[in-house]
Amino acid sequence: MNVVQVALDIPLNRLFDYLGDGITQDDIGTRVLVPFGNRRLVGIVIAVNTETNFAIERLKSVLHIYRDIPPLSAESLNLLQFCSDYYCHPFGEVIMNALPTRMRRTLPIPVKKYSRFCITQAGLQVNLSSLPSRAIVKRRVLQTLQENNALDQGEVTTLSPTALKTMREFVVHGWASELESTGVFTPPKTSVTTSSRPLLNEDQQLAVTAISEPALQTFQVILLNGITGSGKTEVYLHAIENIIHHGRQALVLVPEINLTPQLESVFRARFSDICLVSLHSGLNETERLQNWLLAQKGEAKIILGTRLAIFTPLPALKIIIVDEEHDSSFKQQEGLRYSARDVAVIRAKQNNIPIVLGSATPSLESFYNAKTGRYQLLTLSTRASMNAVLPEIRCIDTRRQKLQEGISDPLIQAIRNRLARKEQSLIFLNRRGYSPAIYCPECAWHSACNRCSSTLVLHLAERKLRCHHCGHEEKTPLACPTCGNPDLKPLGQGTQRVETALAAQFPDARVLRIDRDSTRRKHAWKEMLQQVRDEEVDILVGTQMLAKGHDFPKLTLVGALNVDSALYSADFRASERLFAQLIQVAGRAGRAAIPGEVLIQTQFPDHPLFEGLRKHDYTAFAHTLLTEREQAGFPPFMFQALLRAEAPQLETALNFLAQAAHLAADLPHPVTVYDPVPAPMARLAGKERAHLLVQSQSRGAMQSFLKLWNEAIPKVAKGKVRWSLDVDPLEF
Ligand code: ADP
Ligand code: ZN
Ligand code: ZN
Repeated sequence: MNVVQVALDIPLNRLFDYLGDGITQDDIGTRVLVPFGNRRLVGIVIAVNTETNFAIERLKSVLHIYRDIPPLSAESLNLLQFCSDYYCHPFGEVIMNALPTRMRRTLPIPVKKYSRFCITQAGLQVNLSSLPSRAIVKRRVLQTLQENNALDQGEVTTLSPTALKTMREFVVHGWASELESTGVFTPPKTSVTTSSRPLLNEDQQLAVTAISEPALQTFQVILLNGITGSGKTEVYLHAIENIIHHGRQALVLVPEINLTPQLESVFRARFSDICLVSLHSGLNETERLQNWLLAQKGEAKIILGTRLAIFTPLPALKIIIVDEEHDSSFKQQEGLRYSARDVAVIRAKQNNIPIVLGSATPSLESFYNAKTGRYQLLTLSTRASMNAVLPEIRCIDTRRQKLQEGISDPLIQAIRNRLARKEQSLIFLNRRGYSPAIYCPECAWHSACNRCSSTLVLHLAERKLRCHHCGHEEKTPLACPTCGNPDLKPLGQGTQRVETALAAQFPDARVLRIDRDSTRRKHAWKEMLQQVRDEEVDILVGTQMLAKGHDFPKLTLVGALNVDSALYSADFRASERLFAQLIQVAGRAGRAAIPGEVLIQTQFPDHPLFEGLRKHDYTAFAHTLLTEREQAGFPPFMFQALLRAEAPQLETALNFLAQAAHLAADLPHPVTVYDPVPAPMARLAGKERAHLLVQSQSRGAMQSFLKLWNEAIPKVAKGKVRWSLDVDPLEF
């Protein structure tokens, strides 16, 4: 009798032994149904042995083995095991959460087989009128295929009783390709656009060459740093083209698929005869399962997805592309707190294939890796399209301005000009990195921690300034410590009233607010984008959602408000994010023939961030940031992990963290353990949250430490404390 080790969705980092009659080594990676307490759970077979550490007569038997779909490959299991180890998260939970929900259920998956036909380039080029007029069926089938790109078997048979036979003849002719498919996959009904491919410019050509043979044969990380509008997408398309016609697969990760429907249609238009699937949270369970299965079988050649797509099994994976690699939505903020970008790099390494990380403003981690030679840096430094020039970026010094509801006169004037010229304006509100710090309007002093150089956060009720990084506390000063000015001010006021203020200022203008709330409804976002393109909107107001990848030809002015709180934030990454966002949002202005203008309201126009922005110089600013980070001992020069805790009482959470800090001090590894601190938003959903930061110069040391610590912590986690480890945290 074989003993089967099963991974289950249980918060314990171990496997569970069961008796498995007829289950062999070949079943590793297969789903099984097992009894667990008084429940029945679906798990995955990880190992099959002949012995067990438990009394064999007490083991229960596997209830069912699902042979409906192929098992998870060793490659997939390795990647998931890596994530479990690296992020200190139970293996069973990691595996089960990587699967489509439908596969975690106890019902087997019904599998149907049918054929699916895609048009080929040759088929597209056939002129219908060149076919003999009596070949009615032939004409009808080809025309329908040309109009739809792809048809499934059922659709073909409805055309004529002999249509399927005709279609198979097309396959022999090379006009169509036939795929055997699973499930009820309906091909996208996009009309065929033989998308014209632009001639690559010199930068693009260099980049494409670097991602062609022989580079495709080995693991390599390519950082593609291209300014907005430089044509990074065209480079991705060529890189994929190089591999796709040999039956290989490409995985393309994007931050949020709802924000980049354009990318999907660009890909579909270019690869009309290739099976492309998307994987993101907007799909229903069945769609997600079907797309996942097409990918696992190697039928889908291009997989376009958000962070969860990184775990899709891909037997013929040959290249990974991560677009907007700096985007923080690649990091999952709950459960397994993984970074899909980092996992993608590991996956490329395990598979010995190249990976392209693209961005106008790479994360400092990636930039540093390129600088130290671990990644290969490729740069696209000009806008691809001839008539698109970069917008002019200027600061409005708000110390010299009277603001009306947070908006300065020059900005109002600039909007008025646009209205007169029937052009569009976008008012961008920065919301990220908000934490009330104080500053002096006279001499620009701001509250910084002298223990760790992070910004101190104002806690009004206690009249204290607190460092959310190291735990240091001090009394709020009554006057500026540098110049004595008694009138210290908080950084970053609320901005909710901007929309109303604009509407009052410009009663005839059509103002549209775009943010998470206004776009919650299913097609709202698409409709709003269309409204903007149809010029039914004069002034757009919005947050970072607006910044990403959309072309609005009539948009010529961007105004940015409320940016200062991010310059001196308790979150040391706030200025990196602000720079990225302002570059993105500036990239929206002047995409077509009309040059754009960007106006940023700030109290600190001399800050190096704005200098970098004015010159459109990411690299210069990145170097400044790197120097700061090195001096302060922050990532990428340090590796961090955060022990997060929440409890009904703040004290409970802090006590637990203090005990965990004690445990850490006794462990034999060179990591710095800071004091427990309340989280910046300490109270959330009725729970008090706090955390404890540990830091090390060595990733290896950090990893060995975390392994031991993670095993020890449960001993001190008593009562109502919930805790989790966040390795390489992005938010505090
Ligand atoms: P990015 O992603 O780098 O911001 P895009 O890939 O969106 O830039 O490209 C910007 C625009 O330039 C697109 O409209 C694209 O079709 C166009 N484009 C890309 N490459 C070229 C080229 N070589 N010649 C002309 N236009 C190009
Ligand atoms: Zn500090
Ligand atoms: Zn001062």
